[in-house]
Amino acid sequence: MEQEDSFRHKGLRKKLIDSVRLKGVSNEDVLEAMGRVPRHLFMDSSFINFSYNDKAFPIASGQTISQPYTVAFQTELLEVKKHHKVLEIGTGSGYQTAVLLELGARVYTIERQRQLFLDAQKNLGPLNYKPIFFYGDGYEGLPSYQPFDRILVTAAAPEIPQLLLNQLAIGGVLVIPEGGREGQKMIRVVKESTDNFQRSEHGHFSFVPLLKGKNN
Ligand code: SAH
Repeated sequence: MEQEDSFRHKGLRKKLIDSVRLKGVSNEDVLEAMGRVPRHLFMDSSFINFSYNDKAFPIASGQTISQPYTVAFQTELLEVKKHHKVLEIGTGSGYQTAVLLELGARVYTIERQRQLFLDAQKNLGPLNYKPIFFYGDGYEGLPSYQPFDRILVTAAAPEIPQLLLNQLAIGGVLVIPEGGREGQKMIRVVKESTDNFQRSEHGHFSFVPLLKGKNN
């Protein structure tokens, strides 16, 4: 059984975090948070031996658990502070959700694939991670829970959804990969006032697409 977090896993994880640091992520709070999350418990059993490779892997419904470097990079850009109210679009395995919770955020997470919505709860529950889960279309955000201090999108959108910008608090930050299937740019948007946004670009990435509607 691989349901525990052994010394071997901890050792492999430490090496993974060191390699992510070498690739340029410098926020030690983010790296420490990732150092506490047992990634192998978020992966399909067929890939479990690769959990501490810095790679994306398949999960259910044709989706992927993001590459650790990408998780670190997005989380660093998000500048999460303790007690921030964070909206995450694309729960997937729940791995990124756990990292946000380790940073002390209150996390609202949305997934459009029913199977993954269920799997993520199975992954996070036993580890005592307690986000607020939603099954739905993240394109809509969560209007009744707005505003959010931070919004993180872990799937690629051809353009930044206006509804998400609307649900950001003033001073809030949105991080989203923008582009089509051929690749995306990482975008960080700071909401300076109701209709004034500061946008910056942060390199190229490859995500599964943000899709409209939900899937049973
Ligand atoms: N953070 C996750 C990444 C999963 S991949 C992890 O590391 O495991 C991106 C996820 O976004 C997929 O699970 C996909 O189903 C989901 N997704 C795509 N479009 C969505 C939408 N409109 N609303 C909510 N989730 C969406």
